[in-house]
This record gives sequence, C-alpha cells and structure tokens, in this order.
Amino acid sequence: MSKRNKAYKFRLYPNPEHTLFFVKSFGCCRFIFNKMLADKIQHYQNTKTMLKNTPAQYKEEYTWLKEADSLALANEQLTLQQAFRNFFRDKKTGFPKFKSKKHSRRTYTTNNQSGTVAIVDNRHVKLPKIGIVRCIVHRPIPQDHKIKSATISQTGSGKFYISFLVEYEQEEIVVPLDKENSIGLDYSSPNFYVDDQGREANYPRYYRKAQKRLAAEQQKLARMKLNSNNYLKQKKKVAKVHETVANQRLDWIRKEALSLARKYDYVFVEDINMRGLAGSLRLGKSTNDNGFGMFRTILEQKMEEIGKKLVKIPRFYPSSMTCSVCNAVNKELTLDDRTWTCICGTFHNRDHNAGVNIRNYGITLISRTTGTAEIAC
Ligand SMILES: [Zn+2]
Repeated sequence: MSKRNKAYKFRLYPNPEHTLFFVKSFGCCRFIFNKMLADKIQHYQNTKTMLKNTPAQYKEEYTWLKEADSLALANEQLTLQQAFRNFFRDKKTGFPKFKSKKHSRRTYTTNNQSGTVAIVDNRHVKLPKIGIVRCIVHRPIPQDHKIKSATISQTGSGKFYISFLVEYEQEEIVVPLDKENSIGLDYSSPNFYVDDQGREANYPRYYRKAQKRLAAEQQKLARMKLNSNNYLKQKKKVAKVHETVANQRLDWIRKEALSLARKYDYVFVEDINMRGLAGSLRLGKSTNDNGFGMFRTILEQKMEEIGKKLVKIPRFYPSSMTCSVCNAVNKELTLDDRTWTCICGTFHNRDHNAGVNIRNYGITLISRTTGTAEIAC
C-alpha cells in the first residue's frame, strides 16, 4: 500500500449567506497577506531584521478578521513565508508581491481538522464557520480517503468552486512494463507536442478560435462606462469566454493524457521549466495557453494510477541539437531553425528529431535504473 494525494474539484452552489461569507473570506485573506507583507517590509527597513508576525496579532485592531476562518488566514501566513523562502533561495524568483484587489485570484484555503471539512454526500459538503453548502460531487472519491485541505475559489464570471486535496491509500500496482512500448514527446509550441514518430498532437487551438470573439467582446467592454451596470455585465461575459476556453482545454488534455497512459508503458518528456520557456522564447501566448505543464502533471497522475511511468529527461540534455542518427551535436542550431541537416547527411525536422532523442535517452535512463534483466521481457 502507498499513500497518494489527489485534488478533486467540484462546483459549489452557495446560498446568499454563504456567498457573502466566501467573498468576505477572500477579502480577509488578501488583506492579511498584504498587511503582513507591508509590516515585514517596514520592519526590515527600520531594523534590518525580519519581522515574525502572525494573523492573530491583527485580530484586536481589525476585529472583522475574526469572522473569517482562522485556518484560511494561517494559510496566508504560510504562503507569504514560502514566497520569501523562494525569493531568498532563487534569485530569479521576484520579491513577494502584494495581492491586488482587481487582479489576484479570489480564493482561500482551509484545512481539515478531524472532520471540519467533509464531503457529506454527492450533493453537499461541510466547511468550517458556515456548515453545509450545496455542491455537485460528480466524481467518485476513493473509499477511506482523508481530506487534508479545501480551497474555495470564485471565477471571473462569478462561479464558485471547491478543490479538495485528498489523501488515500492505494495498493501498489505492479504491471510488467515494456520499455519498447514507449513514446518520446517533444514540446512544440504550435502543435502541443511532436512524438518520436513525427506525429503531431491533434491539439485544437480553442484559444485562437475564441480569440476573435474575445476581442470583439473586449472592445465592447472598452466602450462602456467604467463600473456601470452594463460594464459589469459585459465584464462577466468576457470572463465567461475565457472560462469556456480553459474548460475545453482541460477536457482535451485529460482525454489525451488518458489515451497515452492506456497505450504506452513509458512516456518520456523533457523536464523543462514551462514558465521560463514562455518568457525566453517570446512564445508567451501559445506556450501559456496550451498548458503543456498541466498536461505533464495530469499524464503523470494517470500513468501512476495504472502502474505505468512518466519519465522526465534532465534539463541539460540537448535533445534538439543532437542528431538522432549519429549523435553529433549541432551547436549552431538556433530556435528559429525548424529543420536542419546534420554533418552525417540526415535531414531533420527539429521536433521529430528531438522526440526520437527523448525516447532513446529515456530508454537508456530506465535501463540503468532497472538493470538489464528487464530488457528481456
Ligand atoms: Zn547525424
């Protein structure tokens, strides 16, 4: 048996009282985060030491904070601490930012303390401070699960969601894995991925298709009087288009991941930093909008569930520059070169060649870790 964590996200249907509580909680969380950050900065400027502050210290002065779930506030403290840790550890990570009322996500996270957070039945959940809230629990959750935390969020169009982080025990699934039954995927900005056979993922670019509509709706919004009734209505409409696109994308990603997990024993992908890629290659839109990072996470989960493996290839391996036929490395290759010819005479499609290399490297990698005995099967 092994412990697994999984997130389950469901739509919430709060009544007006619940809605008010959620909106207040989002505000309290944003407030405490910003207040603690501001005080830390001030304290540091005065004393050159780090201030150790907690949400509890602020409840006397700002009594309305007592209305919020105290664990939600405590989680803001943890998030802030983590932001500072990331900043000190990695210079590329910027200094913690204030959460803006307009642009930050409306969300808070609470923890389960012996049953304070629960899934009551497939129509109701239980939350601290407000009790039972209507919810559509549309996916079965493993028996004997333990809820660790719940994150409540609201989208731009006004919908509420709850995401449970659930821990459960699962029997170790041991299936014989054949490394030849494997596939190498190279991340490709226009095509989502190209595999070692040169096949492109049939990725529908919903975002591009919906973009025309989005642009038209946004233009309408721009012409409206700021914060008028019509403006607010239109703003919701724009958010809805965004959400539809995001949902379609997630749906496609889930299906694609499931189909690959069923078909292959091993999937090899590059261990790349997606956010870094979006910035450095100036491919911002398509890199961010097609969610390859999310795809890898979901694929890994689906494969693990059925005893298969997603293997990440180390970042330093030059999968695009290496000739998959003779192993020569073409250091001249630039990001704009979609095709190239190696010194051995082989003509390469950049992404296809990388896919082959990723698969070959992956097979070598797992042969080293599993020993050669398994090759026979
Ligand atoms: Zn070559």
